[in-house]
Amino acid sequence: MSQIPTPQSVAIAGGGLAGLAAACALADSGFRVTLFERRPYLGGRASSYEHPGTGEVVDNCQHVLFRICTNLVEFYRRIGVEDKIRWYDDMTFIEPGGRSSVMHASPLPAPLHTAPSFLRFPFLTVKDKLAISCAIASLTLATQRDTGRSFLQWCHDHGQTETAIERFWKPILVSALSEHLDLISIPYAAQVVRESMKSPAARHMGVPSIPLTDLYNTAGDYIRARSGEIHLRTSLETFLPNSSQVQIRITDKDKKDREEFVDYLILALPFNSVDRVLPETPDAAPLREDLTHFESCPITGIHLWFDRQITDLDHAVLLDRTIQWMFHKSRLLTTRAAATDSEPSGSYIELVVSASKSLIDKSRSEIVDLALKEVREFFPAAREATLLKSTVIKEVHATYSPGPGIDAHRPPQSSTWPRVFLAGDWTATGWPATMEGAVRSGYLAAESLLHAAGMKDRKFLAPDLPASGFMRLSQP
Ligand SMILES: Cc1cc2nc3c(=O)[nH]c(=O)nc-3n(C[C@H](O)[C@H](O)[C@H](O)COP(=O)(O)OP(=O)(O)OC[C@H]3O[C@@H](n4cnc5c(N)ncnc54)[C@H](O)[C@@H]3O)c2cc1C
Repeated sequence: MSQIPTPQSVAIAGGGLAGLAAACALADSGFRVTLFERRPYLGGRASSYEHPGTGEVVDNCQHVLFRICTNLVEFYRRIGVEDKIRWYDDMTFIEPGGRSSVMHASPLPAPLHTAPSFLRFPFLTVKDKLAISCAIASLTLATQRDTGRSFLQWCHDHGQTETAIERFWKPILVSALSEHLDLISIPYAAQVVRESMKSPAARHMGVPSIPLTDLYNTAGDYIRARSGEIHLRTSLETFLPNSSQVQIRITDKDKKDREEFVDYLILALPFNSVDRVLPETPDAAPLREDLTHFESCPITGIHLWFDRQITDLDHAVLLDRTIQWMFHKSRLLTTRAAATDSEPSGSYIELVVSASKSLIDKSRSEIVDLALKEVREFFPAAREATLLKSTVIKEVHATYSPGPGIDAHRPPQSSTWPRVFLAGDWTATGWPATMEGAVRSGYLAAESLLHAAGMKDRKFLAPDLPASGFMRLSQP
């Protein structure tokens, strides 16, 4: 590994996945890394904490990944938590009333590997399946450009039935992109379809078996072990770059302001926190203008603790109702699984609603009542169960809306200031707002910084998952 002779200093603002990935990569390359995180914990939008009302450690929301998330998987390997991810091949779809159908891979080559189970789905008619198959072929075989139209309009233009939209496209794309179909751009939808069909491994779903902050605290240990520093409860206020250094102003955990000089700065902040740290100089104007085009999408997690088991599934996609996913946390979390052995009857469930705009103005008790009603429709055993406790976590700014035209406003990781770099799931990564997108942005920012520091040959980005079967012929 090539090391720089005198360690140069890098300040990183933001301890989410983008900042942590950049910090780990640069600490590995011999830079003196200092990371500032406003909150008292690492992980950003993918974190966990002890919930005061229930006394339970809860994730802000269930986070899942797929094997196509090659940079995230590489990041887990780098920080030593790869074995904390459980992988699943099967995906269960449940209809109200409790009928379930499982999607799993067959030995057929991609993209036909899921065809046998898909063709057996009882909740879609032959007409729905034909329409979906034609749409998948069209989305995977041809490059889809941003025409300014939404994916819902595309569905109508391409003969998708109402049932195909409601029971196939909505469950898959609203969860993947956290937005309603009429606000999703066509290339984003096409990317999800193409990536998930590219090989049998591509759709293996990974679920962390420990709370998110435990997962990402290991990145903090990794940085400290390479002489880096992590300052929690510490905010970047603003910065002023010149040709040889960047002056940064920070407020520390005791609310004291201080100024420092660093060689480089990476802003790894969510899009809605960037504007307030930009300098009041004319060269910040184009970035400020780009930021005005981003809009937030909410995601809501509903956490329910029952006195008994309501299902023996680890997770499931729920059709036709407000709730979209069920995660059986007491089976997924190793810590909870141990607790369940001693109290075998209890069960902890998290329900997820992506693009949850309809829940934002509802009270917590209204949301719990709605969730309970729906859970009892999907899982008959829940009708006999007593709800012991519950909580609702609304993340209003969960992701950015992947609407038509937004990609033109996603900035690259190098900025107008040669010593300042941008990272975050909203920057130009080719990926939507996901943990993979965030890690990619962190690695791309670290690569740009190394380039500026004269270390042009060092790369961090992991190769994409290779396509297999017929999908090798269809890559755009
Ligand atoms: C409810 C929910 C569910 C999700 N589900 C999934 C999923 O299943 N799979 C998936 O891949 N992705 C999911 N995502 C998206 C994923 O969490 C994000 O895309 C990713 O974590 C973003 O990482 P980031 O580092 O870009 O930003 P962030 O995680 O937002 O990190 C930025 C950090 O900067 C800090 N900060 C802000 N201002 C300052 C300042 N001035 N100084 C210092 N620090 C500052 C913030 O506190 C934050 O910790 C979900 C997100 C949410 C909210």
